[in-house]
Amino acid sequence: MDFEIDSDTVLFADGLLRFIDQEVVPLEQANRALFENERNLYQEDGRFVPEVRELRRKVRMRSAELGFYGAFAAEELGGLGLGVLANVHVQEQLNHRYGPARKLIQTVVLPSPFTNGLSPVLRHLDPEVFAHYQEGIASGEKTLCFCLSEPDAGSDAFAIKTRAERSGDGWVISGTKQWITNAPYADYAMVFAVTDPELAQQRKGGITGFFVDTSDPGFTVSSVIPTMGHLGAEIGVVVLDQVRVADDHRLGPVGEGLSKALSGVHAGRLSMAASCVGMARWALDLAVDYAKVRRTFGKPIGEHQAVQQLLADSAIDIYAAKNMVQNCAWRIAQGERAIAETSMVKAFATEMLNRVMDRSIQVHGAVGLSNALRLEEGYRLARQMRIPDGTGEIQRRMVARALLRGNCNL
Ligand SMILES: Cc1cc2nc3c(=O)[nH]c(=O)nc-3n(C[C@H](O)[C@H](O)[C@H](O)COP(=O)(O)OP(=O)(O)OC[C@H]3O[C@@H](n4cnc5c(N)ncnc54)[C@H](O)[C@@H]3O)c2cc1C
Repeated sequence: MDFEIDSDTVLFADGLLRFIDQEVVPLEQANRALFENERNLYQEDGRFVPEVRELRRKVRMRSAELGFYGAFAAEELGGLGLGVLANVHVQEQLNHRYGPARKLIQTVVLPSPFTNGLSPVLRHLDPEVFAHYQEGIASGEKTLCFCLSEPDAGSDAFAIKTRAERSGDGWVISGTKQWITNAPYADYAMVFAVTDPELAQQRKGGITGFFVDTSDPGFTVSSVIPTMGHLGAEIGVVVLDQVRVADDHRLGPVGEGLSKALSGVHAGRLSMAASCVGMARWALDLAVDYAKVRRTFGKPIGEHQAVQQLLADSAIDIYAAKNMVQNCAWRIAQGERAIAETSMVKAFATEMLNRVMDRSIQVHGAVGLSNALRLEEGYRLARQMRIPDGTGEIQRRMVARALLRGNCNL
């Protein structure tokens, strides 16, 4: 196994960080009043205020112009097709350097791996139809959301109730989607709906994906759902009331939508794990620095054995998670699907980040709770990451099932 990062990837990551340092961070600083106080970020209804939306659009489009935004998208979609090894390296670097709570960086300079941008799920859209939308998405002008979860169906995706029924030469979709990232702002939605209730009930298919224009009649975002102490959010509830979609806007064959959706989710898990490694390194760096300067009982707290253990346990956690991420990425780069392995990595890395954030707050004492260093925000973000793209329990379910089938490559 060779985890060496090639020089092109190193150059790419350096270029991305330079772009953020030189263009995005100054933009954040110039708008400090907006970004430092949540009350200024969101409207009453939980949506970003127009100034924030415009700044995010500006950064997205500049990132696309410089070739960063679409770098990990498949070449057939117009991306650069940088592979999985490059992706985990860049995610780690990005999160290590900037940490959490950067509203112009996280999911802006690079889109979420499958819910936005030139998502791998778009490979299943009719090429001529895709060509019509490609430029808007690639340039960062237009954004997407991925509508699978519903009020009564999260982990159990076969339980979705949103229906798509044939009507003339197209389809009519009705239902409610919940927890949908970027729904309040998206121009297009990848919507998954039941087209054959019997097959869906038997868990044998019966779900189809559709590419929907969110400005079409019947598509509304009924509310935004603030989570984990935020005053607003990127996630929302989508109501589809008899939304008409042309048949050529299907995402793949009728009845095969769930496998297309889940292949997107699978691709996102490793990327999330890599971001956890980076963010954990960011939090540990802060703790190490603080342990050297904060003094109690006549010496730096880093000289107390109990504090050293907090630091060492975090380093052990990060080293393990990083090696898991790299090993899994390498396997995927060799052509393995690594389904169970990716689940192990997602569960371990997200839970590892929770432990590291918690220890880093502990090392900082009250300062850690104050959010002066953004640790408190990081702690909340870490807790959040254990739910989307499959909860820790669902990852373990995948691992156990693979083990019982004799299909887990340890
Ligand atoms: C920040 C955020 C962003 C999200 N973005 C999107 C998005 O863009 N698009 C989208 O479609 N969805 C999105 N989601 C939804 C997310 O995918 C679901 O929340 C997740 O799949 C869990 O579903 P649930 O919340 O309905 O929990 P449930 O499925 O109801 O689970 C509840 C609890 O039961 C456990 N559980 C369920 N089944 C089992 C089992 N078989 N064995 C053991 N334990 C089990 C779960 O682990 C959990 O602890 C997002 C969620 C969050 C928090």
